Amino acid sequence: MQLHLAGDGWQSPVWPHSFFLLVLLDQIPCCQPPTPAQGLCYTEAIRHNTRALGDSLLITGVSQLLTLGGRGPRRGSSLSNLDLIEDGALLVRDGLIAAVGTRGQVEGLPGARAAGKLDLGGRVALPGFVDSHTHLVHAASRAEEYELKIQGASYEEIARKGGGILNSVEKLRAATADELKKRALEALKQFAAHGTTTLEAKSGYGLDVANELKILKQHKELAAEQPLDIVSTFLGAHVVPQEFRKKADGAKRYMLLLEENLLPTVAEHQLAEFCDVFCDRGAFSAAESKRVLQAGRQWGLAPRMHAEQLSRTGATRLAILLRAASCDHLENINKSDIQALAKSETAATLLPGCDFHLGWKKYAPARALIDAGAIVALATDYNPGTSPTLSMPMILSLACAQLRMTPAEAIAAATINGAYALRRDKQVGSLEVGKQADIAVFEVADYREIPYYFGVNHCWMTIKRGRVIHAAKESRN
Ligand SMILES: [Zn+2]
Repeated sequence: MQLHLAGDGWQSPVWPHSFFLLVLLDQIPCCQPPTPAQGLCYTEAIRHNTRALGDSLLITGVSQLLTLGGRGPRRGSSLSNLDLIEDGALLVRDGLIAAVGTRGQVEGLPGARAAGKLDLGGRVALPGFVDSHTHLVHAASRAEEYELKIQGASYEEIARKGGGILNSVEKLRAATADELKKRALEALKQFAAHGTTTLEAKSGYGLDVANELKILKQHKELAAEQPLDIVSTFLGAHVVPQEFRKKADGAKRYMLLLEENLLPTVAEHQLAEFCDVFCDRGAFSAAESKRVLQAGRQWGLAPRMHAEQLSRTGATRLAILLRAASCDHLENINKSDIQALAKSETAATLLPGCDFHLGWKKYAPARALIDAGAIVALATDYNPGTSPTLSMPMILSLACAQLRMTPAEAIAAATINGAYALRRDKQVGSLEVGKQADIAVFEVADYREIPYYFGVNHCWMTIKRGRVIHAAKESRN
């Protein structure tokens, strides 16, 4: 392992300082004297975060440091390359990684002596998760539908009766911006508590101008008011809203609203970076999806897609043709789609939380995609209808048990390849010099225990741009 070292000249972090203090005070009830196993974590974390911006931090005591360094995105056999350093260390300066290597290498650097110290007590550290597919802003759960589904109602039957996405649309339209923000902020704290440091967030529960803007403005405000990075996606083409379904040519008229009103308004206010379409049975056809995504591109929004979840519609081929950043779901792709993805630059983002929650037996063919050489990413698809989880560790467990991915492959898919799917792989997704110091620390003896202990959160500390944003209340040691 080569020692990586950066020069000076890092830019200052931009997050408001008060947030970190608030989170820390909220998460840590009291500052107990550290035990030898804990090192100086809790107290040092607080001290570090009370200092002025621009501090440097030396992180040591990492039994396994999963850097995910090297060429990205990961394909084929390289997906299992974690670039792991035993007894690793990091030097962080102004929120960015200034050096990474073994403890001996990094501790000996001139800047290390004067830096604040954070000893992780022999725990496992990896890049913060990059969750590249979420529906962060929504008004309420749909637990009532969950019960109906268990009793035998299908996803599409529920949708036909005004449930499903339209249920969430109704609830979102009735909610105030403050109510939505409060719920989203609670969720963001939980994302951080499970090791996620960057996430994508989609609109798509508004489906009219006022309510789509209500969601997208939340993305912007939330990004400014708390530490996680939020990448905003416009999903006006989620489904055709109820009021248009009642009209003759309702779907065509909604397409016109998207093209002539919604997309120009979103672009004018710079509220999204990506344009997404739910291309599937009961949502939008491949032809309609193509129109929306091409219109989005004209307004400067890069395409991504919900593809082949309920049926095979040709969405994957369309995503590749349009050079989409990613196509997501893929339960119903065929062999030729797999080959096409393997030759493309479009990420294949798998969302096993949906299949698990809906009780489906059919998961996406992850093994075939990886073996063919496609860029496989994993995400939660956090949403109230089909995947109400924000736990990336749980998604890793599902990826291992159901998609037959190894723990190493799952971790790479949830970090560097997730970052690639959001076009953030130059900034986040691996622990390399010059990238953001976004780190998830796990209370485990070996990284394979992260997916192994399913349904339990062993994330012990989360660091965003060099600052502690989550620390567990209890330690197993
Ligand atoms: Zn989704």
